Amino acid sequence: REMRKLVSAGEILVEIMAERIGQSFLEPGPLLGPYPSGAPAIFIGQAAALGQPAGLIGAVGDDDFGRLNIDRLRALGADVSAIAVHTGHATGTAFVTYRADASRHFVFNIRNSASGLIETDAAATNLLACADHVHVMGSSLFSDRAIAVALSAIETVKAKGGTVSFDPNIRREIMQASGMRAALDHVLARADIFLPSGEELFLFSSAKDEKGAADELLARGLSCIVLKKGAAGAVYHDHHGAVASSGFAVDEVDPTGAGDCFGAAFVSFWLRGAAPAEALRIANACGALAVTRKGPMEGIFPLEAVEAFIATGNTQ
Ligand code: ATP
Ligand code: MG
Repeated sequence: REMRKLVSAGEILVEIMAERIGQSFLEPGPLLGPYPSGAPAIFIGQAAALGQPAGLIGAVGDDDFGRLNIDRLRALGADVSAIAVHTGHATGTAFVTYRADASRHFVFNIRNSASGLIETDAAATNLLACADHVHVMGSSLFSDRAIAVALSAIETVKAKGGTVSFDPNIRREIMQASGMRAALDHVLARADIFLPSGEELFLFSSAKDEKGAADELLARGLSCIVLKKGAAGAVYHDHHGAVASSGFAVDEVDPTGAGDCFGAAFVSFWLRGAAPAEALRIANACGALAVTRKGPMEGIFPLEAVEAFIATGNTQ
C-alpha cells in the first residue's frame, strides 16, 4: 500500500530560550537560539524524518528566521510547498524560560507575525489534494483565520475518506484567543485520534478519572485516545481496552517538542497500520529523544536512529 500523506497547518516560529533555569524576562540575560519551532512544524518534521510523506501549511516572513525553518523542514524531508513567504511581516517567535518547578513561561508573537497570514491559498489547496490525514494542534487555532484554515483542511480530507488527529497542546498564554475554546471542541468532534497530555484529558470530558474520561470521549466517536505522560510514557485507549507503554530513561535537557515528536510518530505508525503497542514504542522513543537536546526540533532523528535507540534504550 502506498504511504499515506500527512498534512498539518499552523504556526511556524523560532524559539529563543533563556539559558538559565529561573531566568526572568524582566531583565537582560543570556539567550539561546534561534531554533526552528512551532508545534505543527515540529510534528511535520518528525513525521518526515520517520519516512512519512508530510507537508505543512503556514507562513513565514522573508527573513532568516523563516529561512531557518524552511531549510530545516526541507532537510528533514517535509513538503514545504505550502509555506508562504511574506515580505513586510516578520516570522513568528516564542521566547521561553523554564522555572525551577519545571513549568514554562512563554512570550509568543504568533497572531501578529507572518504566521497570522496563514490561508488556504493555491499551494495549500494543492497540498490538501494529496493529503490522506490532517493533524491539528490546539495551539494552531490562534485566530479566526487560522481556525478557518484548520477546519477547511479537516473537511477537505474527511470528504475523501481521510482521517484526523488532534493534540490540544494548550498553552495558557494563547488560550485567551477568541473562539479558541469553541474551535478546540469542534476539532475534537471531527477527530479520529486524540492526543492529550496529562490534565488536558479532563478539559474535554466530565469524568474525573482516566478510564471514565477515555470511555466518555470514545463514545463520542473517536477511534482512539493516546494520553501522554511525560517521562512515564503513554497509555492508548480504544473500544477494546487500554495499552500502556513505559517511557525510555533519558536525561531531560529540554522538554519542549516532546509531545509533538511523540504525536508525529504515533500517527505515522497508526497510518501504516501498526499495532498500538508498536506505535507507542516508536512514539515514546521519539519523545524521549526529543528531550535530550536543547531546541524543539534538534532531537528529531530518522527512523534508523530511533530504532537503534530502542534497541539499546532502557525503559523506566
Ligand atoms: P509538549 O511540551 O511538547 O507539549 P506534551 O505535554 O504534549 O509535550 P509530554 O507528555 O510531556 O507531552 O511528552 C510526550 C512524550 O515524550 C511522553 O509521552 C514520553 O513518551 C516522552 N517524554 C517526555 N518527557 C520525557 C522524559 N523526561 N523522559 C523520557 N521520555 C519523555
Ligand atoms: Mg503538547
